[in-house]
Amino acid sequence: MLYKAVKGFKDILPYQVGTWNRVESEAKRIFELFGYREIRIPVLEKAELFARGIGQDTDIVSKEMYTLEDRKGNRLAMRPEATASVIRAYIEHKLYKGYPVQKLFTIGPMFRYERPQKGRRRQFHQINVEIIGDPGPKSDSELIFMIMYFFSSLGLNDFILNVNSLGCLKCRGPFRAELRSYLDRYFVQLCPDCQKRMETNPLRVFDCKVETCNQIIKDAPSMLDFLCNDCTNHFDSVRLYLKQLDLDFVVNSYLMRGLDYYTRTTFEVQTKEMGAQNAVAGGGRYDNLMKEFGGPDSPAIGFAIGVERVVELLEEHVVQEEEGPDIFLAPLGKEAEDKSFVWLQELRKGGLRSEMEYRSLGLKAQMRHADRLRARKVLIVGEDELIKGKGILRDMVSKEQIEIPLDNLVDELIRLLIR
Ligand SMILES: [Zn+2]
Ligand SMILES: [Zn+2]
Repeated sequence: MLYKAVKGFKDILPYQVGTWNRVESEAKRIFELFGYREIRIPVLEKAELFARGIGQDTDIVSKEMYTLEDRKGNRLAMRPEATASVIRAYIEHKLYKGYPVQKLFTIGPMFRYERPQKGRRRQFHQINVEIIGDPGPKSDSELIFMIMYFFSSLGLNDFILNVNSLGCLKCRGPFRAELRSYLDRYFVQLCPDCQKRMETNPLRVFDCKVETCNQIIKDAPSMLDFLCNDCTNHFDSVRLYLKQLDLDFVVNSYLMRGLDYYTRTTFEVQTKEMGAQNAVAGGGRYDNLMKEFGGPDSPAIGFAIGVERVVELLEEHVVQEEEGPDIFLAPLGKEAEDKSFVWLQELRKGGLRSEMEYRSLGLKAQMRHADRLRARKVLIVGEDELIKGKGILRDMVSKEQIEIPLDNLVDELIRLLIR
């Protein structure tokens, strides 16, 4: 029987891992510069956490979540996103007790039972960042600035930054009423899902992917016309700081989020490529989620970056060759092979990427292997070299060869080759 990976679940193969590591290590490097600390959260949580945090009637919770029962009958779910878990951990461990403002990030796989398509997988990966405890607007601008800096440091600059404000519970009420009466006029043209949303939450019509609904929503009233004074000042400040930080952005009033705990600043980073799947990162303020979870009344803002999309863009635009070993040992004969085996491990301890072929092979075959691995240098040691006490060090690019004494070989190679 031939096993294959589960549909929508993908292996990340050795030749791809370099790009993944680059994205993750660059994220860690930059987030730490900005004062964010890593938190690692479990893959499994109580299913209820996500129903509460994301919304029972959202597609994510009602259709896409991987749920299971453990042996005691607890209903668990593979996390479909990270924010709910981070907030759960923040409250559970009372992280607010040390210092009320916590800046956290986490990187890892998420799981959603979606229709697999280009750039969409059932196990996908996200980089998540949250600032908990600060109402903004400096935090909002810092977060957006940090994402854009992260992308540009990877060599990716061709993005559109969309920003919007969702207001607060106070000013969203009148907007919702106005939106409902607008949508009522087009009720029969809305898709069945949106007709249901009209009763539960008309804001969620903005999330609809059906074309006719998109057309209708294009002329809908704008939240920005309904912002209260505090929300207006907040959004003005965010935009001012973004300008002072030299960031280009567009105000996009269609960028809405359908859940009540989302407030004020919301944003999305899009690439013009990848067709409809063009959001690479998105996030926003969710000042009311903490209370919803029974925690302290702390404001918060966060974002998620889709790692698959970033990796895809890097693979298309930024060529990065895998690096070969610093040195390949090519011994000839049993005595040289045994000596080389020990040198090999010592060279590695000394910080050189070192390789050797353990099967006894002729020089030609070993040189072919060194070539294939893209080794910088090859050390050739046969019986003659052992008698002379000098090996041959060959540069694989210039083809130049020099003699190198064997009695202090490891130190000498480290001195010559360490970068
Ligand atoms: Zn408001
Ligand atoms: Zn619809």
